[in-house]
Amino acid sequence: MSNRPYIVGNWKMHGTRAMLAEARAIDRAAERLIKVEVALAPPSTLIHACRKEANLIGIGAQDCHPADGGAHTGDISAAMLKDAGAGFTIVGHSERRADHGETNVLVKQKAEAAIEAGMGAIVCVGETEEDRDAGKAEATVGEQLKASLPEGEAAAANVTVAYEPVWAIGTGRTPTPEDIAIMHRNIRAQLVEVYGEAGQEIRILYGGSVKPENAVELLSADDVGGALVGGASLTAESFLGIIIAA
Ligand code: PGA
Repeated sequence: MSNRPYIVGNWKMHGTRAMLAEARAIDRAAERLIKVEVALAPPSTLIHACRKEANLIGIGAQDCHPADGGAHTGDISAAMLKDAGAGFTIVGHSERRADHGETNVLVKQKAEAAIEAGMGAIVCVGETEEDRDAGKAEATVGEQLKASLPEGEAAAANVTVAYEPVWAIGTGRTPTPEDIAIMHRNIRAQLVEVYGEAGQEIRILYGGSVKPENAVELLSADDVGGALVGGASLTAESFLGIIIAA
């Protein structure tokens, strides 16, 4: 596994071309931050422009359709995203699971489509507050992971897992480093069960209210390979605060 922390910004449905200046500023600073691998997932409309603006950081998508192409109005295939300049895509973010009813089966198909198209896939999993209160956080994440992880020869080498408790996303609340470590240990065990030794090399990111002020603490939890950052990735200033902390 790369020892460099992997810090990925998820812009969600934010950003017009005016935000390209942020991508440029992050990219310029990333040149000096060779110890950290940095990537941004802007909205699809900005992937191509971000790829042109930024030379050093990774650029990815936030979702893809599982099919190669066809009659799917409004959707974008993995190959199209790759052609636009995406090197990876996030799949199964909890907002897509909630807003679009995405199931684990669909998330797995999307991850496999992304890898088939030559991209990386960041598979998101995470429990709701009810799951955690009911003592079911680990079981929920285990079930999601089991059914969402891509299969196939290239899967282990191209998948990243993001553990994002739903109750921590955009709320300012975060699990303790101990809670994160417990979850990442379980995820690691499952990755090894599914992929064998290759599962040891897969990066597990933490996501949910990561900010410059808490990044050191959250990233120091055991087996945290980086962070998936929403709100705090929207300005170069705050995103760089997290990158420097990493
Ligand atoms: P947040 O979002 O950092 O704004 O909590 C994280 C995410 O949804 O990936």
